[in-house]
Formats: sequence, structure tokens, C-alpha cells
Amino acid sequence: MIPGPIEFHPKVIEALGQPTLSHTDPAFINSFGNALYMMRKVWLAPTGQPFVIAGSGTLAMDMAACNLIESGDRALVVSTGYFGQRYADLLKRYGADVTILEAAVGEVVTPQQVEAVLDKGNFKLMTFTHVDTSTAVLMDAKAMGELGQKHDVLTVLDGVCSVAGEEIRQQEWGLDVVITASQKAIGVPPGLALMVASQKAIKTWNNRKTPVGNYYCDWANWFPIMQAYENGNPSYFATPAVNLIQALEVSLALMLEEGMDARFERHKKLAAEFRKAMADMGLEIIPKKEEIAANTLTAPYYPEGVNGGEFIGKVNQEGVVIAGGLLGSIKSQYFRVGHMGIVSQEHIDTTVKAIQVALGK
Ligand code: PMP
Repeated sequence: MIPGPIEFHPKVIEALGQPTLSHTDPAFINSFGNALYMMRKVWLAPTGQPFVIAGSGTLAMDMAACNLIESGDRALVVSTGYFGQRYADLLKRYGADVTILEAAVGEVVTPQQVEAVLDKGNFKLMTFTHVDTSTAVLMDAKAMGELGQKHDVLTVLDGVCSVAGEEIRQQEWGLDVVITASQKAIGVPPGLALMVASQKAIKTWNNRKTPVGNYYCDWANWFPIMQAYENGNPSYFATPAVNLIQALEVSLALMLEEGMDARFERHKKLAAEFRKAMADMGLEIIPKKEEIAANTLTAPYYPEGVNGGEFIGKVNQEGVVIAGGLLGSIKSQYFRVGHMGIVSQEHIDTTVKAIQVALGK
């Protein structure tokens, strides 16, 4: 029950355990093409361009940044915790002139605050963390997409802790790049960096005046590969993570079988139940309001006098693995429980009970 890597469906694990095929094997080409096709449905981006490369979420952040930023471009980073700062550091590596708009702990940056900054500057791109995994704060992705459209600023959503768990309608909401990694709500062991880019983002990249400053992540290298696999042809730039991609195909198919709307609802319902159980035990959570509390993880503060390490150890003794704090300034004051992917009522009930027992002890 940590916020990633999560627990995986047995069918996904089974796909990983198959003998590894050649990346040019027709069965693999079919799986890769099918996974790319299904990504558009999971991201709800019918005309978006999916990319899947071997790496973690940070590489997906990197891929979006290096392809869209040219030295001197202005970028706005809307930060609600640990991962905003990471995006700011990363964008600077490509020469971006970065402005950070940071929320107080447990708060979001409001659309009005974002708009006030966009009004003043000539920004090319803005990033925001949909769910910051260090604070469990949820940003309003729809409002951010609308602001991006209104101000003609590319919007990059860091969805490492949200895609396939929180509601995201990439195309309808006007979001340009939605990135994630395999190990969270996507439901595949760590090792894949994933994203879907809008046609506007692809056009911006096409119109670059300078070469992309990162060889491995350059869309020029990957765009033809993604197209080839989707068209049923083998192609090579760098060896794809064959087994992980086959596992991805299985996981995406399971998601679409459930249906995206049902999936978003299940996450919402179980998260609300978990938050209520924490409140009933007298535990306060980091997000200051219910509307900005994430549905993929919850971050409660320890009650007075409880030693974090000892508490997590006692929860562990009940058979439940949870995580400690991550945000530097309050790291030792809270814990984190992930509830995403194949999370069920049974997971929630078992976890609540384990926390009760540990607190009792
Ligand atoms: N962004 C967010 C919101 C995350 O939660 C994480 C990982 N916890 C990352 C980025 C970085 O992903 P990775 O650890 O897979 O590189």
C-alpha cells in the first residue's frame, strides 16, 4: 500500500514472466502496437501521440522538457510539493528561464494565482504535478488545461501519481503532454516512462530552431518507432523493454475492460472511505480541504507522541506495507498510504485495521 510500486495483477506478472521475444517478433509488434493504441483510450486523447520508453517517471519528465524547451524559453512550474522542484531543476538543464509558483504545504495553487502569473509573462510552457506524491494534494487539471489553451501556453501534467487513477480527459481538457511511469496506477512494475503528446506539442517540437539537447529522449528518434509499431512494422532505435511492454498491454486491456469512468469512480470511492476512516481515528491529513485531497494516495499526520518508524514497523507486522513522509520540511511528521491500480475494498479494510492495531499498540 505504498504510493508505488504498487501491487500488480497476477496476469500482468504472468506476462512479465514469459520468455523474452525478439523486438521484431510479430507477436511483440502486435503487443506494442496494441499498447500504444490503448494508451489513447486510457489518456482520453484520441488524436494524441503516445510514447513508451524504458525508464522511470523522471525520464518521462525529461522527455517532455527536452523536446519542448529551447534555451531562453520561459517556463512556469506550479508546485504543490517535492516533485515541482524536481521539474524546475530539470527544465533549467535545457536552458529554460523558470518561474516557480509554490503552494503552502497542504494547499494548491489556485487557477486565479496561475492566471495572474501567466498574464504577466510570455511563457512557452507550464508544468504542474497533478497529484504530488509527497503531499497527496490534487490539482485541478481541467482548469489548468483551460488556462493553457486560453494563454497559448503548453501544459505538461506530471501524472506519475495520477494517470489511470485520477480523472484525466487529456484532449477535452486541452492538456498538451500527460506523463507517467509504469509502477503506479498504470499497474506494471517499474521500468517504463510513458506519455501522450497533443498535436500542438508535436507541432511545437517540429518548429524548433535548435536540436534537442538530449539524445536518448529526442522525439526525432522515437516518433518513427512509435508509428512503425502501431502500423504493425518492426523498427529500431533503442531496444524496447519487451516484457514490460507486453505486461503494459495486459494492464491497459484490464483497465479498458473495467472502463475509465468506473475506474475513476472506484478510486474516488475507496479514497473517500479511507480518508473517513483516518478522520474517525482522529488523524489529520495534509491536504487542507476534501476537494484537493488525492484519490490515489492519502498522507495523514501521526498523532502526538507517535514515533513514525515504530508505527510503520507495527503496521508492517500486520502484513501491510506503508510509506513514511517525503517532503523535507515535515518528513518525520506523517505517513503515506497508496490506494491505486487494482486497489479493492479488501485492501482498504485490511489497511485501516492494521493502522488501528498499530496505533493501539
Ligand atoms: N512525479 C511524481 C508525482 C512522482 O510521484 C514520482 C515518483 N514517485 C516522480 C515524478 C518520479 O518518478 P520516478 O521515481 O519513476 O522517476
